[in-house]
Amino acid sequence: MAKTEGQKLQEKLCYQMKNIGMERPEEMEKAQSFCEGYKTFLDNAKIEREAVRYTKKLAEDAGYTPFSRGKRYKTGEKVYYDNRGKNIILTTFGKKPLLEGLHFNIAHIDSPRLDLKPNPLYEKEEISFFKTHYYGGIKKYQWGVTPLALHGRIMLKNGEAVDLNLGENPGDPVFVVSDLLPHLSQEQNQRKLSEGLKGEELNVILGSTPIPDKEVKEVFKLKVLSILNEKYGIVEEDFLRAELTFVPAQHAVDVGLDCSMVGSYGQDDKVCAYTALMAELEAKKPEYTTVTVLVDKEEIGSEGVSGMASDMLLHYVEDLVEAEGVRARDVLRNSMCLSADVNAAFDPTFPDVFEKANASFMNKGPVLTKYTGSRGKSGSNDASAETMYKVIKYMEDDDVMWQIGELGKVDLGGGGTIAKFIADMDVDTVDLGVAVLSMHAPFEITSKLDVYYTYKAFKAFNK
Ligand code: MN
Ligand code: MN
Repeated sequence: MAKTEGQKLQEKLCYQMKNIGMERPEEMEKAQSFCEGYKTFLDNAKIEREAVRYTKKLAEDAGYTPFSRGKRYKTGEKVYYDNRGKNIILTTFGKKPLLEGLHFNIAHIDSPRLDLKPNPLYEKEEISFFKTHYYGGIKKYQWGVTPLALHGRIMLKNGEAVDLNLGENPGDPVFVVSDLLPHLSQEQNQRKLSEGLKGEELNVILGSTPIPDKEVKEVFKLKVLSILNEKYGIVEEDFLRAELTFVPAQHAVDVGLDCSMVGSYGQDDKVCAYTALMAELEAKKPEYTTVTVLVDKEEIGSEGVSGMASDMLLHYVEDLVEAEGVRARDVLRNSMCLSADVNAAFDPTFPDVFEKANASFMNKGPVLTKYTGSRGKSGSNDASAETMYKVIKYMEDDDVMWQIGELGKVDLGGGGTIAKFIADMDVDTVDLGVAVLSMHAPFEITSKLDVYYTYKAFKAFNK
């Protein structure tokens, strides 16, 4: 049937975001296979330290060498810089001189979790516990009765580092925060949801057997210490120097009968970290020199020496451009950055918090987010029209399906990313990343097509 005038006009003038599964069903196979590597990454990168270690291994296998200050690198050469084992920067030297600008792609490798307090160990009524202090924005009630694994590092008095990873391997015990049975929850049920479990109730169960000696007090706590001492050679004092954390013990799995989604802890923002990393590793001779940065501390405001509020990236750029005899500020001014972070996927069960025309959806590709922030865009980078033009052109020249979106309804909340910190360095920046369901929950969900297409977008940017 011939198209009506109205139909033709609509085709010419109106815009609609499209579902990749509908337009390009043949892509699913590639997305499936790409996400196998992604799931392995998730399981090996639950905390930033592990993400750096795993990334470094992949980088070295791909021919990266540690960055050497003052050395003149050739097009296609690859270097990395490991910042204190907590964040990592990877570079592939491009065809253009550094003065013409760098292409930054920055994702974060920290995720919300339950950190141990500095003096964490206690016993109460013949059960031993760790006291925790949550890290990042969590809905606390979600962290009860879910199996947890213990990760992190302890510095011994003699300066030796001991890395812990307990609860991940077959045969490992897991740990858990208890919750009340429904039969006795009448009072708890009256609490606000945000206090379903309170911060001081996020106590992790460690053991229930004593050192059988009636002459000694706190024998349940002592039993835990004796096991830890046997296993890791640590004493209670060592907790004071430690950086330990509980994360969900569950491994990354497929979700849905069609296996079209990935379910896992920590996809915010390891999904952008992995896709950015793969695009970086595969960059051969890019036009612009790439600077792929996996950062820490985003979930608590990008603070600290391994977060984006620190000068660590500025210092890296200063060192990087030194050999070409140009000034970092001239390079930065000509540079561009993708702030690779997730957005909230539209959830049909909770439609009221989204404004549908400006929400991001699963399976419509990476979300380009012009601005984040809350209320009147407070805390946002708010990319310019010119920056939007450039990024959209990179994607469309490479036939990458993508979508536009903002985080929920205007007055309902909001959030920030690292975008404003790199913009503060005088770099044109915009947010681009995957839409996630149940963001910040112990089990987050992404679409495999979106993961694959985000990688394709980053590849286009690194071309
Ligand atoms: Mn994030
Ligand atoms: Mn987050």
